[in-house]
Amino acid sequence: MTIKNVTVLGTGVLGSQIIFQTAFKGFNVTAYDIDDASLDKARQTIAGLAHRYLEDLKDIPPASLDAAAGRITWSTSLAAAVKDADLVIEAVPEQIELKRKVYGELGRVAPPKTIFASNASTLLPSALADATGRPDRFLALHFANEIWLHNIAEIMGHPGTDPVVFATVVQFARDIGMVPIEIHKEKAGYVLNSLLVPFLAAASGLLIEGIAEPAAIDKTWRIGTGAPKGPFEIFDIVGLNTAYHISLVGSPAQQRFAQYLKENYIDKGKLGVETGEGFYVYRK
Ligand code: NAD
Repeated sequence: MTIKNVTVLGTGVLGSQIIFQTAFKGFNVTAYDIDDASLDKARQTIAGLAHRYLEDLKDIPPASLDAAAGRITWSTSLAAAVKDADLVIEAVPEQIELKRKVYGELGRVAPPKTIFASNASTLLPSALADATGRPDRFLALHFANEIWLHNIAEIMGHPGTDPVVFATVVQFARDIGMVPIEIHKEKAGYVLNSLLVPFLAAASGLLIEGIAEPAAIDKTWRIGTGAPKGPFEIFDIVGLNTAYHISLVGSPAQQRFAQYLKENYIDKGKLGVETGEGFYVYRK
């Protein structure tokens, strides 16, 4: 199976990044969203991403970024957007009923050859597979935010995924510059978040129980393990709003941490790296 034409459904935070990275690596990409306002926003996001690529990656000829932008087609018609697609990557909001509805429509209009891949973070492929009408050609392809820097792609099928489809998507991930991580069994959180979420929860517990300050906890982790960043530096990158929403539905200690985040940071506009201040102050 050869992948040449890729369609991305949903042009938000992750969708925009997937669109640009895939086009940057030479694929034809069709970007689909529900209305023109969403597409306009994504065009602006992608113009900003081009600057980030120049800043963050070495030796990128500026012309290659223009060429990438030129390989993107924009559409608000699902049928037109997928008519030649070899692969559809879905990055619509993490709501099961919405995703199932999108897969129902997609299954009706996409050609039989098309592989469907979901960027879902917590929903398992088996919760969506029957809605696609082609469960054997469906799996999850999960990216990490800022995909040009944090370039892992976790690939996770469900029991009915065709192994050839799985292998094709692993190769595609490699072809767009990701390091593919093959997941053998369905697992919410894949590998990355199965490690990261409890790690961050442990760090928040140390703070909220008054055991140590964020800087001391981070220093311990960095020096003790050689890791480049400690948990509170990671919280600042994830964003304190996101951390708040995740903690709010966690254990009682995590809920106390959510309250702490709200009172000391969020209510003061300190959301982490994106606002220039969180647990640490950043140069803008
Ligand atoms: P987002 O809210 O930034 O973007 C979602 C986009 O989907 C919006 O542009 C919205 O207009 C569009 N949309 C809504 N309904 C649609 C429909 N019916 N058809 C097509 N598009 C539709 O969301 P996001 O953060 O990019 O997340 C998208 C998916 O990626 C989620 O499943 C999320 O869990 C996953 N994900 C997010 C991150 C992250 O760090 N943000 C990381 C990995 C995976």
